[in-house]
Amino acid sequence: MKGKALLENIANISSTEFYTPLPKGYKPGRTKYLIVTGSVMSGIGKGMLTSSLCKLFANRGMNVEPMKLEAYLNVDAGTLNPFRHGEVFVLDDGTETDMDLGSYERFLDKNLSRENFITSGLIYKTIIEKERKGAYLGRDVQFIPHVTGEIKRFVRELAVKKKPDIIVIEIGGTVGDYENMFALEAMRELMYEEGSHNVCFLNATYIIEPPSIGEHKSKAAQLGIRRLLSLGIQPHIIVCRSHTPIPQSIREKISLNSNVPLDRVIGVEDIEKIYELPLALRKKGLDEKILEVLKLEKRFKANNKELIEWTKKNRVSKNAKTVTIALAGKYTKLKDAYISILKALEHCEGMLNTRIDIAWLDTTELEKKPNKLSTLKKYDGVIVPGGFGKRGIEGKIAVADYCRKKNIPYLGLCLGFQVAVIAFARSVCKLKGANSTEFEPKCKHPVIDLLPEQKEISGLGATMRLGGHDVELIPGTIAHKIHGKQSFIRRRFRHRYELNPNYIEILEKHGMVFSGKAPDKQVMQILELPNHAFYMACQYHPEFTSRPLKPDPLFFHFIKAARRRHAGKVSR
Ligand code: GLN
Repeated sequence: MKGKALLENIANISSTEFYTPLPKGYKPGRTKYLIVTGSVMSGIGKGMLTSSLCKLFANRGMNVEPMKLEAYLNVDAGTLNPFRHGEVFVLDDGTETDMDLGSYERFLDKNLSRENFITSGLIYKTIIEKERKGAYLGRDVQFIPHVTGEIKRFVRELAVKKKPDIIVIEIGGTVGDYENMFALEAMRELMYEEGSHNVCFLNATYIIEPPSIGEHKSKAAQLGIRRLLSLGIQPHIIVCRSHTPIPQSIREKISLNSNVPLDRVIGVEDIEKIYELPLALRKKGLDEKILEVLKLEKRFKANNKELIEWTKKNRVSKNAKTVTIALAGKYTKLKDAYISILKALEHCEGMLNTRIDIAWLDTTELEKKPNKLSTLKKYDGVIVPGGFGKRGIEGKIAVADYCRKKNIPYLGLCLGFQVAVIAFARSVCKLKGANSTEFEPKCKHPVIDLLPEQKEISGLGATMRLGGHDVELIPGTIAHKIHGKQSFIRRRFRHRYELNPNYIEILEKHGMVFSGKAPDKQVMQILELPNHAFYMACQYHPEFTSRPLKPDPLFFHFIKAARRRHAGKVSR
């Protein structure tokens, strides 16, 4: 018995060693699965590979749903420190996820939701809650079949809810990690239950090239793949990531050691720009080979014209001008902490044919040495990104103040909005002691204060104002104009504090324009200064919804202003 028959059989028996709760309406074989695992080491671009494959399937007209299975015990990514784990990405429905979800959204150009992200913490929480309700009917609750069964249920629920042609599941971490063992076991079971041609396993491994040896070595990769085999998972496709192109002999060794035919062992070397990756993978036939395993290659045909066009439009020409943008944050030692901002800037690069260099400014340093502020003059624009906590905050306020005074293009994102208000209140409105109650709870002028609904909340997990909300644009403002005169835009938020409405009047009287607000409420969400090269800030995170070929207008016009400054067209 296999596939459909097997599944129906085991789902119907109540007293059984199987635990395969099938969501209502699940049709075995309707949705196919690609499982992406990693071996040897993390950080080899498994997320990028997964995202590019999603793009390639979508390019064939397939309805694609990506899914990330994270091994950690946090229920979501909300409480993770960006310095350790990279940015926390926020979905429209408010789910706080791993930054890979951002990458999937950007490559697929579609919004994802809660169902696209699972962590071990979420699985365990679900199981313990169910157990307390007596849902396991007197059974002892075990890793196998209950934890694995719950993982499969999450996966199949996505299939029922979104009815995709394919679900691409990326397993976080690498084979051999203690934490993801059950995720891998669940995927092995999925394969067993769904049957062949319905599940394809891809292992992304790494071929090392030690400088002292000067040639590629495949042993680490062989061992990694062996480890996967020992878990009962036979990969169908192996992607060998490497710094430089690997020779045929390495592919042969991998093929022989892994039972994977040579033409399904594919070398993918480093590339400079990530937008080149989908086309490069198409040229290597990767998506075609996966669809062959799943018997879908005849049903969904490649659209190379669209892909080439997309790739070209994301390119920057060799002789393009370069502008330098300073990013004034405190997590500057880990670039992944600001990955969506870097991506939103990249989206402008192609569309404006301008190269953007990033200068990382640590605001805690600026705080210690305020005379360093004048170094800001050499940049074409400054971004103050989101952030939490007191460390480095006076440095950020000083940056917002300096850019305003010196006519340097400024873009403030979330916390960058709040510091722009504080700086303006202090030095233009002369409100001595203006601050946010986040940094100084008893300050004289709390121009930024806790959101009213936040005053009742305790605990830090998923308690912020999160996710997509409408922002009303005020006619006649720059914000209204650059957003194509739309009345409303939808953007994503992640904050606890906001502009204190008691200070709107005095700020406006001194020339600050609030050009975006919450509909039907006096909650200000975009600010601008009219007589400035570019001075805009928003309470939301425009970087989360900026997409390739569709840059967010705030970023786009900020870079345009930076170009004008670079060309000497702005008074200094
Ligand atoms: N710390 C600020 C708040 O909670 C800003 C948050 C952010 O930048 N994401 O409101």
